Amino acid sequence: MQYSIEIKKTETNEVNKGDRRKRIELLKRLIVASAVVLLLIPSVLSTVALVRIRSIEQSVSDTQDMIADMYDKLEAAGLSGSELETRYSTGTVQNSEISVSSDVYMSEGEDYGTLIYDGSEGVNKTVYLTFDDGPSAGTDEILDVLKKYNVKATFFVNGHEGYEEELKRMAREGHTIGMHSYSHEYSDVYADLDHFAEDLDEVHSYVLDATGVDSVFYRFPGGTSTCRRFTDVKECTEYLDAKGIRHYDWNVSADDSVGRKKSASEISDKVIGDIERSDKSTIIVLLHDAPGKKTTIEALPAIIEAVRSMDGTELAPITESTEPVYFK
Ligand SMILES: [Zn+2]
Repeated sequence: MQYSIEIKKTETNEVNKGDRRKRIELLKRLIVASAVVLLLIPSVLSTVALVRIRSIEQSVSDTQDMIADMYDKLEAAGLSGSELETRYSTGTVQNSEISVSSDVYMSEGEDYGTLIYDGSEGVNKTVYLTFDDGPSAGTDEILDVLKKYNVKATFFVNGHEGYEEELKRMAREGHTIGMHSYSHEYSDVYADLDHFAEDLDEVHSYVLDATGVDSVFYRFPGGTSTCRRFTDVKECTEYLDAKGIRHYDWNVSADDSVGRKKSASEISDKVIGDIERSDKSTIIVLLHDAPGKKTTIEALPAIIEAVRSMDGTELAPITESTEPVYFK
């Protein structure tokens, strides 16, 4: 009896030891499993978060593209930024206004305008090549190309002293000389009507003294849309009207002064495409005569040749009988 009790005790001890081992093993497994779970949870959560962020980023990017595309089309159709916002909020944007496509570009604040076609409808088109911001070191090259093709254009010039020879050549070779302000400094030209008038006098004298031309054409620096951002555009246009000076915006832009630098083919494709798509009889093309605008000059032959090959389309310099083209 005593013996069997001893055996039982020993068995019980063995069983207890076995249980403890099992429990330790189980505990170990639990610890390892917990550690794995603890490590996995953040990884899974961050993966889920990453996927979600990616999808949000994609949505934002898609929306931005959509907005940029919409702005682009509206701008091409003739609505400036603030106007666009106003008209968008008041719901007056018409579908018919959203018809012209062009590259998405960012404004650098220079000569950034919108396209408003105020010319009369018709099959025959007159294309007016206009060059802003000269005279410059590139003027002679532009004049060479125009001479080669026997094309007369229009130069809206600034008060760049030292380029009087280039000005003289413009006049001598039959191009129209318009004024584009003396300083081209928005904060100065558009400070108030007195500043505007003083600047106009300066650029008028600059052209008159160099060439003898009493210029009666004006292009607002940045176009009337820029003038409107700074001051009362009506006051300025009435002042010009009173002096018998006609002002012109544009309805086709080479975009050679906005956004990234364009290649010659990008410039010519844009200009030619916009001219082809336009149903207006008066087409005023904005180009730039400014330092570093080499590709604009390189684009000219293709533009001239393409316009010449279009039926019922001619190239001409702006004259007093040229229909006005203004931004609304
Ligand atoms: Zn300009």
